[in-house]
Amino acid sequence: MLLKMIEEKMPIDCVLFCDTGLEFPEMYKHIDRVERETGVHITRVKAEKSFEHWMFEKQINRKPDSKIAIQYGRNQKGYGWPGPKMRWCTKSLKNEPRARFFNAFKDSYEIREYVGIAADEQYRLERKCNQKANHVHPLVEWGMTEADCLEYCYRKGYDWGGLYEYFKRVSCWCCPLQSLEELRKLRQHFPELWEQLREWDDRNFRQFKPQYSVRELDIRFRFEEECIRRGKPVKGKKFMEALRKQFEKEREENAVS
Ligand code: SF4
Repeated sequence: MLLKMIEEKMPIDCVLFCDTGLEFPEMYKHIDRVERETGVHITRVKAEKSFEHWMFEKQINRKPDSKIAIQYGRNQKGYGWPGPKMRWCTKSLKNEPRARFFNAFKDSYEIREYVGIAADEQYRLERKCNQKANHVHPLVEWGMTEADCLEYCYRKGYDWGGLYEYFKRVSCWCCPLQSLEELRKLRQHFPELWEQLREWDDRNFRQFKPQYSVRELDIRFRFEEECIRRGKPVKGKKFMEALRKQFEKEREENAVS
C-alpha cells in the first residue's frame, strides 16, 4: 500500500509500525530497507513491556473463582500463551501503543488512517475495528487482491527474504493461533526461533496449543517426516493412532532416561 501510495504521489504524513518485538528478523530487515530506499521515515511504536513480561511476569489480580486461579493458584504470574478468546497481546502490544501515539495528535489534527487491507480480505473489512469513519482502504479502492499486492512488491524488488514463500500470512513468529502447517514451516526454516518457542512453552503454565505442547509438535513433525520417508500416510485415523503410540513411546523413553 505504501509503495503504491508513493507511486500515486499521495500525501503521506506518517508511516506507523507497531512493533510487537515478535516479527521475523526478515521483516525488520524489510522495514529498514523500505525506509532506506523510499526515503519515507517509518515511526516505530512499541509497548513499554515485552511479550515475555506479559506472558510470564505480569502481576494479575485474578478472581479466586477464575479458571486459572483454581487450576494454578491466584498468584500465578503472567497471562500465559494467548488464545482465541484471550488475545491480550493484540491489545497490549499493538492497540494500546497505537492509541497512545494517536492520542498525542488527536486534538490538533483530523486523523485519517490508511489501512492496508486487500480487496479480497472481506472478512477483515467486516470487523468492527476496520469500519471506523476515519479509515481509508486504498487497496480496496484500487481493487488490489493479496496476490496482486505480493506481485506488485516482488516487481519492485521486495521479497521479505523469502518469508511469503513459506507462509501465506506473516505475523508474530510465536503466535499459538498459527496453523500446524505454518508451525511446520517455522520449525523447518527457522530452527532458532523454534528452539525459543520450546523454551517459552517449557516454562509456561498454559500449553502452547490446546492439543499440543511445542515438544509434542516436535514429536508429531518428526514422526510425519519419518512416515513420509517410509511412504506412509500422514493424515487420517491410522496416522493419528500411530502418532498416539509414538507419544506414549517417547514419554516412556523420557521417563526412563
Ligand atoms: S499475531 Fe498472535 S501473538 Fe501476535 S499479537 Fe496477534 S494474536 Fe498475539
